[in-house]
Amino acid sequence: MDDTSKTAAGGCMCGAVRYEAVGDPLSTIYCHCTSCRKHTGAPVVALVGFKQAQVTFTPADRKIYQSSPGVGRGFCDQCGTPLTWEGDGGEHGPLIEILINTLDDPEAFIPQCHIHHAEKMSWFETDDTLPRYRVWHDDGDEPYL
Ligand SMILES: [Zn+2]
Ligand SMILES: [Zn+2]
Repeated sequence: MDDTSKTAAGGCMCGAVRYEAVGDPLSTIYCHCTSCRKHTGAPVVALVGFKQAQVTFTPADRKIYQSSPGVGRGFCDQCGTPLTWEGDGGEHGPLIEILINTLDDPEAFIPQCHIHHAEKMSWFETDDTLPRYRVWHDDGDEPYL
């Protein structure tokens, strides 16, 4: 079960939005999807996923942009920092995936696989041996590289 002694804190660039995630994460991933790349302006995004109930925002809440049906992208409306992917986690219920580099200690979570690798930028590659999934590892997808 969740280890409530573990807390991961972070926030946006200006400090208006802070968050805390309590307990163990469900996943730590690199996402190469077009939507994550557009939201962040980065060639790839590192995300750590928690059940929605594990994450609290304070003092200000994040704003949510609905990027597709059922999927929200959290950000700070003061400084524009992208913060989260939020959506349905299937058996886990609502999920909040936090952009790892908004954590106070981004070294605390290390991505374990690449998802939506089929959408990867042709000029971008990482020097690792992690499994690469065309789409998403929870959908019965097998690594193809
Ligand atoms: Zn901010
Ligand atoms: Zn993505």
